[in-house]
Amino acid sequence: MHCLRNVPVLLILAATTALAQTPVTPAPAQPPISQDVTSKPTPPPVTRSFDVSAMDTTVDPCVDFYQYSCGNWMKNNPIPADQSRWSRSFSQVLLRNQYLLWKDLESAASAPKSSLEKQYGDFYASCMDTATIEKLGIEPIHGAWKQIATLKSIQDIPALLSSLENRGVSDGFFQFGVSQDQKDSSQQIAEADQGGISLPDRDYYIDESPHFAEIRAAYVEHMKKMFILAGDSPDQAAKEAAWVMEIETAMAKASMARVDRRVPEKVYHIYTVDDFQKLTPEFDWKIYFSTIGIGRFDTLNVVAPDFFKGLNALLASEPLDAWKSYLRWQVLHSDGSNLSSAFFDEDFRFFSQTLGGQKIPQPRWRQCTRATDVALGEAVGQDWVKENFPPAAKASMDKLVAALEKALADDMRELPWMSDDTKKAAAEKLAMIRNKIGYPEKWRDYSSVKVNRSAFVANQEQVALYKRNYNFAKLGKPVDEREWGMTPPTVNAYYNSAFNDINFPAGILQAPFFDFTIDPAVNFGGIGVVIGHEMTHGFDDHGSQFDGKGNLREWWTPADRKAFTERTDCEADEYSGFQAAPAHGDTPAAYVNGRLTLGENTADNGGLRIAWQALLDALAEEHKSIDDKIDGFTEAQRYFIGFAQVWCENRSEAIARQFVLIDPHSPGRWRVNGAVQNFDEFGKAFGCKKGQPMTPENSCRVW
Ligand SMILES: [Zn+2]
Repeated sequence: MHCLRNVPVLLILAATTALAQTPVTPAPAQPPISQDVTSKPTPPPVTRSFDVSAMDTTVDPCVDFYQYSCGNWMKNNPIPADQSRWSRSFSQVLLRNQYLLWKDLESAASAPKSSLEKQYGDFYASCMDTATIEKLGIEPIHGAWKQIATLKSIQDIPALLSSLENRGVSDGFFQFGVSQDQKDSSQQIAEADQGGISLPDRDYYIDESPHFAEIRAAYVEHMKKMFILAGDSPDQAAKEAAWVMEIETAMAKASMARVDRRVPEKVYHIYTVDDFQKLTPEFDWKIYFSTIGIGRFDTLNVVAPDFFKGLNALLASEPLDAWKSYLRWQVLHSDGSNLSSAFFDEDFRFFSQTLGGQKIPQPRWRQCTRATDVALGEAVGQDWVKENFPPAAKASMDKLVAALEKALADDMRELPWMSDDTKKAAAEKLAMIRNKIGYPEKWRDYSSVKVNRSAFVANQEQVALYKRNYNFAKLGKPVDEREWGMTPPTVNAYYNSAFNDINFPAGILQAPFFDFTIDPAVNFGGIGVVIGHEMTHGFDDHGSQFDGKGNLREWWTPADRKAFTERTDCEADEYSGFQAAPAHGDTPAAYVNGRLTLGENTADNGGLRIAWQALLDALAEEHKSIDDKIDGFTEAQRYFIGFAQVWCENRSEAIARQFVLIDPHSPGRWRVNGAVQNFDEFGKAFGCKKGQPMTPENSCRVW
């Protein structure tokens, strides 16, 4: 149960299990899901950085630039059956990275050459060993269930929870861990946050539209089936499912909404342990804190006090049997997809098919490669980067990052609306951004994780326990700035406001983002914009509230803050007008939430502008012009097309509707069209007239 509030801002939403909607049709006797446990991958092709064949040149770039750049790719690349969305860059590079990782895992599983290889090879092998998983059935969670059965009173819940967590089992109730203090980022403090629900967002429990009511009914059915598979009678299973639904719904109602959680002051409430105890008299924190294996502390951040008030009321009102059912469900649900095929299938049917629109599971080799990367990423990653991240790539990235830093500094100096005082402070913060490229200089030591080649669930528990203890050990210790929040093969990047650092895993530093063989315009449109995006996060509506040391502190003059907010309001309104899914039947159209996506949109706009400036600088150095042509396109055009083609994607309508609720990023179409609409250089590059859709009369600019 790690704290998740300090989740850094990513380039894309990381892979999740359950994220979309399909019409819910109750199907009585379902055939088993045929999981592909035997196939082996073939090497996927490298995605090209600039691909004319992906474009639909029958579309006017001034009318719909995304369609112009990606139209043919979208037509020719439907979503694969084992995916719920498919992206030209991210999905294909991830497939390739996983293939390369799989080769390492296969050889480590059959003939390990080091103790590290033995460890991650065995972990992978335990996941691939579906025969043993099948034989064990539900046995791996019996111990936890037996413990839950011994619960005698509500007062015993804190001790039971910590005891489950100490075995690496749990989830449920809330999130607890150690996090940097928002107002003093050099300190690591305890933090308690909302949690306890199994559906992807609180809205799933609260929204009264027929669509969500159907999903809730399907969720209750799913829980019933899982309890029956686990040995309950149908009546007992129905009763248990109803209890879980009642408790999770109350927890969802007490939870803070996603948009509010983006406001730093709203998620910062320092309590003494005594005052926190007064907030939730039904839950004895002294017992919980003294038994979970964390050091002593007197104060903590209670991220969402209203959630804990709600939890307290719930503890006072729900009967003991309801809590036992709730805990049984948390364990069954969190391990469901790791158990035998009956459980795997039922879990897949609800969380991936019903909620995700995914037709079939990914082949087992992909599931297990991902599971091993998630579990032991800095072990597997050590070998992976040796093979797949040449030193020259790091050297080129260092140069690019320096070019982007200079461009952002120049951009800030020239802003017409910002006073000199704030400009000076902004420049100081920019100079303090730490750049982390490729992989950590110090690898995590996993030697305490005991891996058993034939016990996949037990291995997952060992890893959960290791990660929890790793997190708890930070309490009161100096912050380790070398730490990474992503594994090396990850195709993503992030900015962390508490560290004030930008992080680019080796996994994203390749074509089509970054290509040694192509002209600079395309690389600046690809990885250049990605770097600019992450830097701009330090100055978006959220990041701008933290100073260069990562502390929540206002460093803007009031007038500059006001001018900034007018500009971000312009962007929030603009993006709220972008349609994410069309209306049909009784279902209204879905629109981007301009407030939820404000930070990402600001970063996209800033990234596109400063990478352009950096490109101009680079071309000037080589005495080249932005109007030089390569293969019929000017460097300016190649920059924008290269940028757009990073975002070519297909997502089902179901996913599109879901993501407007949960994804802080806009859909690919609007990441492209929204950003170019706000940047005059785009219209010039393609000869658009003022007033055309991609060059509107009124546009927004923050950075
Ligand atoms: Zn971002």
